Amino acid sequence: MEKFPWWNEKQIKLSDEIDSFVDEIRPEAERAWWKREYPHGIMKKIGEKGYLGVDIPEKYGGMGAGLTAACIVTEALSRLPTIGLTYLVSSLGGNHQLHVYGTEEQKAKWFPDIAKGQIGAVCITEPFVGSDAAATATIAVKEGDHYIISGKKRFATNAGVADRYMVYARTSDDPQDRKRYKHLSAFLVTKGMPGFKLEKINDLIGFDTTPNGVLSLNNVEVPEANMVGNIGDGWMAMMSGLNYERTIGSCMLVGMLGEAIKQPVWYMNRRVQFGQVTADLPTNQFKLSDIITNFKLSRLMLYHVANLIDMGKEPASESAILKNFASDALVKSATEAIQLMGGDGLTKFYGVEWLLRDAKVHQITMGTNEIMKMLIYRAGLRDMKDYLEVNYKRVMDEELGVAISTPRTGKRTDLDEKKLIELLCEDYRSNPGLHMATSDIKDEFDVDDEKLNEILLSLEEKDLVDLYKDKKGRIKLAKATYKALLEEHPAEYYSWFPAWYREEDKF
Ligand SMILES: Cc1cc2nc3c(=O)[nH]c(=O)nc-3n(C[C@H](O)[C@H](O)[C@H](O)COP(=O)(O)OP(=O)(O)OC[C@H]3O[C@@H](n4cnc5c(N)ncnc54)[C@H](O)[C@@H]3O)c2cc1C
Repeated sequence: MEKFPWWNEKQIKLSDEIDSFVDEIRPEAERAWWKREYPHGIMKKIGEKGYLGVDIPEKYGGMGAGLTAACIVTEALSRLPTIGLTYLVSSLGGNHQLHVYGTEEQKAKWFPDIAKGQIGAVCITEPFVGSDAAATATIAVKEGDHYIISGKKRFATNAGVADRYMVYARTSDDPQDRKRYKHLSAFLVTKGMPGFKLEKINDLIGFDTTPNGVLSLNNVEVPEANMVGNIGDGWMAMMSGLNYERTIGSCMLVGMLGEAIKQPVWYMNRRVQFGQVTADLPTNQFKLSDIITNFKLSRLMLYHVANLIDMGKEPASESAILKNFASDALVKSATEAIQLMGGDGLTKFYGVEWLLRDAKVHQITMGTNEIMKMLIYRAGLRDMKDYLEVNYKRVMDEELGVAISTPRTGKRTDLDEKKLIELLCEDYRSNPGLHMATSDIKDEFDVDDEKLNEILLSLEEKDLVDLYKDKKGRIKLAKATYKALLEEHPAEYYSWFPAWYREEDKF
């Protein structure tokens, strides 16, 4: 695989090693896929190679190579149906939460088994709780040194085959805790605990041999020592885990995007139509360029975000952008990869049809792409707060007769109705379709909210301003009414014509 300039020697070595390993296990993976068998043999080999411990510190038996290295392994394994998916979900089941929130004893207890290949699963989603994960209904009640957990979890990937399940449960009904997102806690629940049952396995569009299903928890006694983080840390642990999950999950998308190039290229150089190989058709080349673009962009973003997480950051908007972009890119690219191979692309005999089926799944897993967009909007704007700060105002340039950006000067004092109307009329000249924000007014005048509101309400009474209030009734925006504009200046004051406009057409 192509190496990025910021990868260290350990990561570069691992990338060469995993490329060879994937070639070695490809026949076995394809056989398991055809038989629709869970690839136990391959998962055992992955465990023996220590790949499940890539991100686990060396002192606990892992490689201590960080998330970037885990991404390198996941990307390579994801060129094979099922394997990358099973691998990555396994490395998710509580692994990151233990890193961030685990005590020394917890790390010493869980990490060595994870490093040796223990399979894990994540249990957030419930029958009645999907995108609104904070509404978790599963409850955990403390009794002595145990928590008694009851509820149901669904859509859990690796359900049944996993030994370790990261379960989120409600530990408080206090509305204040709910408001502060301190009502959930995270627990490691293990297969075999009395009352913990596999209820159902889903038959899905993709995920051919990776089991995904429903789990039922009926008064499961979980030791307090299995709580990861403190009581009430569950939401934070879940969110932090989701940034990590969306990043490592996108390796799967990138690995599959690579296959959406590799398989058609091989095929098109062997398929002759109209006397030429289909690889020589410019329209096919255009399709392939789009897939290459999607692959390269997704891959660049992936390793950038992984690097941020390795640096200890929580890149919420970046991981959401990555997951949203890469999963949409994969749906488009997998569709085109099939198109490039014609009817053969639709058959299971060539390795592209599964790419499309799995691609669709990933527009929904790890939080749907609609939820990603909400996150990108909120977290993205928050991240860009400083950049979005506007340090200038738009002021009419008397020579040009148009508004240009002008640095703010000092604030004026003694705001009164007359000065405010003058300001709003001037603002109409610069921004004729916009209200003026009260914060803009306060950038011009040294005035407190109470005084400003009093003046604005008085002007509203006189039909000289229109006000816009938020849902809480707070005045946010104001504009001069037409009545105010005319009372303040003659109509010509507001007019402007470009130099090329004919005098005789003006009226
Ligand atoms: C194959 C597969 C594997 C999965 N693996 C796991 C796993 O390992 N562990 C786990 O815990 N979960 C897992 N999930 C669950 C997955 O995370 C959820 O399916 C996902 O979060 C969406 O929840 P939902 O299916 O209940 O859809 P809903 O939340 O019911 O949403 C339905 C539709 O409404 C939209 N929608 C919902 N709310 C809003 C909103 N506020 N604004 C705009 N649109 C909205 C959604 O985007 C979606 O299009 C898996 C799901 C699948 C299908």
